[in-house]
Amino acid sequence: LQEHIVKSTPARYSSTQACLENDISGTDNKGFKGHDMLAPFTAGWQSTDVDPLIIEKSEGSHVYDMQGRKYLDTLAGLWCTALGGNEPRLVDAATKQLNTLPFYHSFWNRTTKPSLDLAKELLDMFTAKKMAKAFFTNSGSEANDTQVKLVWYYNNALGRPNKKKFIARAKAYHGSTLISASLTGLPALHQNFDLPAPFVLHTDCPHYWRYHLPGCYLFLLTLTFLLFLWCNKPFSVEMYMSGETEEEFSTRLAKNLEDLILKEGPETIAAFIAEPVMGAGGVIPPPATYFDKIQAVVKKYDILFIADEVICAFGRLGTMFGSDMYNIKPDLVSLAKALSSAYMPIGAVLVSPEVSDVIHSQSNKLGSFSHGFTYSGHPVACAVALEAIKIYKERNMVERVNRISPKFQEGLKAFSDSPIIGEIRGIGLILATEFANNKSPNDPFPPEWGVGAYFGAQCQKNGMLVRVAGDTIMMSPPFVVTPEELDELISIYGKALRETEKRVE
Ligand code: PLP
Repeated sequence: LQEHIVKSTPARYSSTQACLENDISGTDNKGFKGHDMLAPFTAGWQSTDVDPLIIEKSEGSHVYDMQGRKYLDTLAGLWCTALGGNEPRLVDAATKQLNTLPFYHSFWNRTTKPSLDLAKELLDMFTAKKMAKAFFTNSGSEANDTQVKLVWYYNNALGRPNKKKFIARAKAYHGSTLISASLTGLPALHQNFDLPAPFVLHTDCPHYWRYHLPGCYLFLLTLTFLLFLWCNKPFSVEMYMSGETEEEFSTRLAKNLEDLILKEGPETIAAFIAEPVMGAGGVIPPPATYFDKIQAVVKKYDILFIADEVICAFGRLGTMFGSDMYNIKPDLVSLAKALSSAYMPIGAVLVSPEVSDVIHSQSNKLGSFSHGFTYSGHPVACAVALEAIKIYKERNMVERVNRISPKFQEGLKAFSDSPIIGEIRGIGLILATEFANNKSPNDPFPPEWGVGAYFGAQCQKNGMLVRVAGDTIMMSPPFVVTPEELDELISIYGKALRETEKRVE
């Protein structure tokens, strides 16, 4: 590796930390190299051979490492610290609750006031479709596991024991427990874990830039079609010039979904799950008319729609929920992350009256609804979540995101002309940059060049943390990010991009 860097050809790195260790500066964590933790989503060799970045303190949109170095945290932790790193009201809410009732459970019709208050608050807030019940979990993964159990329980209660399959989408991220990892459409979460579970099917990823059909392809397709049918051209001239439009792409994806349902048998498909904007799979906003068309198909075959709002909820897209942005009318909703601004672990499932009525009557028949966690509705987590929601409302956080997000989106999209950038995409306070050769989705840089990792390392060297996934860079700053911090973000991004361009040339 070192030899390669000396030759000054594009760096062959496999992680941002490895880049920093080998190229920029050692992180020198005094004794934490080869630490004892099996780190999540970290290669084994990384956690033993490479110094971890140890974060010690947070303040607004910034975090500090053990050496006191300051970083702009553009991913808000893991898309979650919406109110930034030191919101005193959340600390007070936790402290107050810890001093009154640090724990009581919610089993067997015993519960606590914060959990009841939070359930009511969430049901009132979610207006895209009326919801009747809230169920609490500790994480987004548990929320999505719970979704599967609720849907199966519901179909068993309705006497439809074969209607059990789930359709998720390629590149979706729904969590990493056995069932939520199965729903996730990323091969890394399946490989060597014997996943996905057989009841999970994956349909197309709605990434227009990557997967839409170009004009030349359509031309050839039409030519074949014409030869075959001896009929007039079925497509417009514009289509040959520009390829499939977003609407046409959405129509094709909805048709593919319908074909999959028909192939499997609609009587076997229980639910469809989708993030309003795909997050960890690469920040992929849906193409125009996508959710209208997908919802029509799902409805036609009596399939439940689950909105995984774990990243999108509470204002990130510029609406309180992602469902509001895309006119989604879900039967079930998953929440986590910004629910408590990540100050306490908590997730939730919202259940529509149509589903909850069935579950309710079935659990009455059986004597109980036997699902839940020791920490479901943990009073401290619920108290913090209630305070976070109060702050979102008091400070008009949705309006704030709408006010500041154009600077974020436009400031970064201005770099789209870079010869090493394929696409910059995003909405509200969430955005991804995808590096590509010749600006083409079909021409990626060789993975061993580590273009994304090198860019991430340059950001880190300049005091900014980003999410690197291969050659895709993701950002979702806290809702409280200031215009000055956005200037800092854009300036460091520009610097890192110039360094990366030089490296790749
Ligand atoms: N769903 C979505 C959309 C997510 O982005 C995530 C995590 O990033 C999850 C579910 C899983 O949440 P958790 O990590 O809290 O289990």
